[in-house]
Amino acid sequence: MRILKGIPASSGIATGKVFLYEHETLEVPHEQYTDDGRAAKEVVRFSEAMAMVRGDLKRLGQTSLDGDQKDILQTHLMMLEDPEFDSGVRSYITTNKVNAEWAVEVVATQFVKTLEAAGDPALRERSVDLKDVSLRIMSMLMGVKRVSLATLSEDVVLVSDSLLPTEVLSMDRMHILGIALNGSGRTSHVAILARSFNIPTVVGLGAITKKVKAGDEIIVDGNHGEVVVRPEWSTAQNLRDRYDRWIAHEEALREVATLPSETTDGHRVVLKANVEMVDELDAVLRSGGEGIGLYRSEFLFMRPGGLASEEEQFAAYRKVVERMQGKGPVTIRTIDVGGDKVVPGLGIDEENPILGWRAVRFCLSRKDIFRVQLRALLRASAYGELRIMFPMISGIEELEGVLLILEQVKDECRKAHVPFDENVQVGTMIEVPSAALCADILAKRVDFFSIGTNDLIQYTIAVDRGNEKIAYLYQPYHPGVLRFIRMIIEKGHAAGIPVGMCGEMAGDAMSAVLLTGLGLDEFSMSPQSLLEVRKIIRGVSFSEAQALAEHVMKMDSYLKINTYVREWMHERFDYFTSV
Ligand code: PEP
Ligand code: MG
Repeated sequence: MRILKGIPASSGIATGKVFLYEHETLEVPHEQYTDDGRAAKEVVRFSEAMAMVRGDLKRLGQTSLDGDQKDILQTHLMMLEDPEFDSGVRSYITTNKVNAEWAVEVVATQFVKTLEAAGDPALRERSVDLKDVSLRIMSMLMGVKRVSLATLSEDVVLVSDSLLPTEVLSMDRMHILGIALNGSGRTSHVAILARSFNIPTVVGLGAITKKVKAGDEIIVDGNHGEVVVRPEWSTAQNLRDRYDRWIAHEEALREVATLPSETTDGHRVVLKANVEMVDELDAVLRSGGEGIGLYRSEFLFMRPGGLASEEEQFAAYRKVVERMQGKGPVTIRTIDVGGDKVVPGLGIDEENPILGWRAVRFCLSRKDIFRVQLRALLRASAYGELRIMFPMISGIEELEGVLLILEQVKDECRKAHVPFDENVQVGTMIEVPSAALCADILAKRVDFFSIGTNDLIQYTIAVDRGNEKIAYLYQPYHPGVLRFIRMIIEKGHAAGIPVGMCGEMAGDAMSAVLLTGLGLDEFSMSPQSLLEVRKIIRGVSFSEAQALAEHVMKMDSYLKINTYVREWMHERFDYFTSV
């Protein structure tokens, strides 16, 4: 038995057999020969590999795949039939007298470069498919077995070095009971997606992939950030008891689903939900979410197949506002691609993506994509209470830039008699330190603020939110971060606008009283956390919360603040000790 400690990323406990998934780095051999007979043999090897990959893909197409997965398979099959690629590889083998896998590597890279340089986004998207198909052919030639997360035949616990958000989106979620990762952080988008799919997850485990074998029994405790490999009976029993206590606690929490989010002395706050996918709305409604504080629209673009059309976007946005009718407004954030959210085919594969071409920076240079999204948002605003929010704003120029485009798109809609809500509310995320420092300037131009602590902490402390090696530095209670939060709230209030928070800190039960005391108006979080946070807020008075905040703001280190807040919360709420 082995117990490994990591970072709790999505609550719940999962038990099952390990499915080991490590990212392949295919070392393609480069062989040069002089014998012409060998060239003929390599051409035959290439043809056979193509035929086998074709057969594999056709077999996969007969299994129960969803529409998107079927579309990808179809595209891959079409690429295998491409005569230009086929003849390109054959002639490279015979002209240069190299092995087939090397020829595939060289020719595919040339094709990919040409596609990536194309002005047409659809062509650029194809480059991702071509990379995938060529990897399949090379793996076939080299006898390397590729595993796929998209179609699993049994229930498993996924153990991997790391995952991409796109892999989480396309994996077979019916069969993945839990996830354990070597790397990643609690606020990475992989962790955020695991929470939205309710898959118990522990991240930042170091070298777990080296400590397990495929098929090992494993327990993932996403509440405490623990993973037990090949558990002894008594440990498994203890964890089962822990799980039962947690389930009982979750059940008991249901009682607050319909109660107001207010302190014992009547101070109201608003508790909203963060969603990544339309199918999370049931969970939001079950937990009494008072609206959507953050709909991460970029996930609509991160599915296989690339960009979502205006109609697809409009349908998704309309569905969300209609389902939330009567509950509260739906805040849809314009696409925040880049950083750790790479959308295939958009050319956002950068050396330093966290400080790179992200969010509104991307939208301001790809106005074609941005305008389509704004138009879809405006159209959906005619069907319910919709608010538009911009991510990663760093200063007034960017804010004015996006507001100007919004006004232009509104004008176009008016001229075309497309109905939309003339009073649609517009807000900005405050998640870049320069925006926090200029909150008073930005507040004059928007209807609301939402603090994005995931990024604000990352940029304030200069600590990559997805890097487990420096996760110890990622401290929401760093006095620098808390000062920023207080300042943003004060500046927002001085300008008469509400201030919310949609970073993961808003859903952290331990921080609920402190944030209430700092004067935060709206908390938006994963539906998993809503009931707990509401229960906590209902258990204190506003004056107590203010006193806690005032005390904490005088402290000089996150270590002291951590200890103080923890002790304070433990004394008042048994949740932190009993579950
Ligand atoms: C944030 O940065 O806090 C946030 C909510 O946005 P995201 O996690 O999508 O970057
Ligand atoms: Mg962010």
